[in-house]
Amino acid sequence: MTIIDGKKVSADIKAEIAREVEARVAEGKRRPHLAAILVGHDGGSETYVAHKVKACEECGFKSTLIRFESTEDAPLDPAELMATIEKLNADPDVDGFIVQLPLPKHIDEQAVIEAVLPEKDVDGFHPVNVGKQSIGLPCFHSATPAGIVELLRRYDIPTRGKRVVIVGRSNIVGKPLAAMLMQKAQPGDATVTVCHSATEDLADICREADILVAALGRPGFITADMVKPGATVIDVGTTRVADATRKSGFRLRGDVDYDAVSPKCSFITPVPGGVGPMTICSLMQNTLQAARAKD
Ligand code: NAP
Repeated sequence: MTIIDGKKVSADIKAEIAREVEARVAEGKRRPHLAAILVGHDGGSETYVAHKVKACEECGFKSTLIRFESTEDAPLDPAELMATIEKLNADPDVDGFIVQLPLPKHIDEQAVIEAVLPEKDVDGFHPVNVGKQSIGLPCFHSATPAGIVELLRRYDIPTRGKRVVIVGRSNIVGKPLAAMLMQKAQPGDATVTVCHSATEDLADICREADILVAALGRPGFITADMVKPGATVIDVGTTRVADATRKSGFRLRGDVDYDAVSPKCSFITPVPGGVGPMTICSLMQNTLQAARAKD
């Protein structure tokens, strides 16, 4: 069994990006510039955005963080957020930007996603990018699925003709990953099944998978009896569970019962240190792609 080291792969990719950025700067080109909008103080979002800012530094990018306060007593006016998105859309110095999700309930998330110019949508969430991705056109790929595909590529895990089962059909993980792995491409050419909360005989379907992807947000949901011997298991889940031994008071748990499942696998991603670091890497790759598009 091989543990897929997302931390190492992401460090390698960030080093590759940094080399390209320095070569661009030496040619007199601008550093790629990623901006992020953060609304409120959600613990997870604060951490993700801090990691994104740090990754920008590692890649030699310029980064800008725009923060908005929003509380129940003083909710952010959605018009103010939209005005900032318009400003970033129009700013020639900004190559790409993200609005960190989730947003407070009173803000229409889909309207925000659609307000970002597709050419600057480095999260790959805009319907134009989603549509292009589904028909195999060049676009910004959704970051987490792109990170998973990159792991499969770098570990030489064959996908052609293989049975992939994805548990979870969210717009940010399950659906775009299914679209990418069913493309006539490499990695790709897989036979993909997407499962969700209404799926019947879920365990039987999972047992057929050569590559099983768990993206449902239910810690330890995938048990050893659901995994075919020799399968590759990709654990996307990151749920905070209480842990009194940690200073933070919590730790991250994946959707896979790692201790029981890992001995049965040929490859498996740990949590943390598997898919998570790759998501930010994909965002950096998309931002570099946005900067290149302006050359
Ligand atoms: P989501 O939007 O909550 O979607 C969860 C999906 O799982 C839904 O399609 C849901 O089915 C399905 N599901 C829930 N319970 C199920 C069950 N008992 N049996 C079968 N399917 C079930 O989740 P998400 O945003 O994709 O995130 C999933 C997990 O990945 C979370 O832990 C999240 O934190 C993590 N995540 C990690 C990264 C990373 O970078 N590592 C990135 C994104 C997400 P229905 O559609 O029928 O409701």
